[in-house]
Amino acid sequence: MEEEEHVVDAKATVLANLLSSARGRCVVHTGAGISRDAGIPDFRGPNGAWTRRASGLPAPECETTMALATPTLSHMALVGLVREGYVNRVVSCNVDCLHVRSGLDRERLSELHGNCFAESCENCAREYVRDFEMKTVGFKLTGRACEDCVDGRLRDKVLDWDDPLPKKELSLAERDSASAALNLALGSSLQIKPSCDIPFKTTRKRRRRKRDEETNDAVDDAPGKLVIVNLQPTCKDARAYCVINAKCDAVMSLVCARLGVRVPDFVRHDVLRVSHTCKASPSGTGFTFTLRVRNAHDDRESIPWLSRVEARVGSETTFATLDRQPFTLKRTIRDDGDVETKVEVELTFYFQRARDAASPPARRVYDASYANGGTSNRYSFETYRKSYAEAHSP
Ligand SMILES: [Zn+2]
Repeated sequence: MEEEEHVVDAKATVLANLLSSARGRCVVHTGAGISRDAGIPDFRGPNGAWTRRASGLPAPECETTMALATPTLSHMALVGLVREGYVNRVVSCNVDCLHVRSGLDRERLSELHGNCFAESCENCAREYVRDFEMKTVGFKLTGRACEDCVDGRLRDKVLDWDDPLPKKELSLAERDSASAALNLALGSSLQIKPSCDIPFKTTRKRRRRKRDEETNDAVDDAPGKLVIVNLQPTCKDARAYCVINAKCDAVMSLVCARLGVRVPDFVRHDVLRVSHTCKASPSGTGFTFTLRVRNAHDDRESIPWLSRVEARVGSETTFATLDRQPFTLKRTIRDDGDVETKVEVELTFYFQRARDAASPPARRVYDASYANGGTSNRYSFETYRKSYAEAHSP
């Protein structure tokens, strides 16, 4: 289905020139195809989840879990293009969180179908992005509370089949698409209504110069252009100015090279919480020391990106390996009147491999005390780093 290399190359130049002349009035619409190289299967491609189901085949094997999936070159290219002022907004139908994880400016992102890793407050709308997937869809209560509001309950953000598109995200997507000089559909089969119609807002001829209701900005009446980048032909190809049948990453790599935009590295940061308790033993001869390594977002959740922890308490000579979640270490301390009240726990954290690699293990020292009932500490890590520079040949 892929076009020949020299054709893709020439069309990438056309796309780069359009981006250049759009002067920032470009909206990119992304679909499942942009996440395919992250190891997340798409739906309608030849090996997609729905295509296989329709042929009676089992679901495609995932190369990674959603929680460990890393943004593709295309996701990172969009971060670069937004930063350099070429792209004004990214509109996505994906719920895989990869645009948010890529570090794309949240104000420039409209997630039309929601995000499996996000929940928001029903009072103040503050959004929380987690390192674990939500267990529900359709804006149900998650059981967690807002940190800003007294009674702020959190709800998941993933649309169920009959839910309308979120109002604010939709209106920004429509406004910017309508006034864009260029709409770029990236890895989308343009079949899911009504989001598939948004890129075409720009291609319709408008007779009069209008004012946007919300911002009072003048909406240009010159029709904009639509470019489609997708591995397979789409039912909307005839309405596009240019269609490129190629992988998103191949095209975006060429486009960034033409524009001299560097594709940023992807760096993942994660947070966990270490806590301990100290309880007097019933016999009165000492106490029980319990150390826990927990998910910093929610104690009850496991930590998807952590594979194991090695721990050494005080003057112990060997490390204990904690390799099952929840990570817990217990020690019985005899109190012979001579026990040190302060103790250092040396911890080494080993991260899960996300697809090809993980950051090296990280060491931290946790200061515990046998005297008080317990404390806790938060630790932040760089758990994954990937450079796209080698794939990017100017
Ligand atoms: Zn709130």
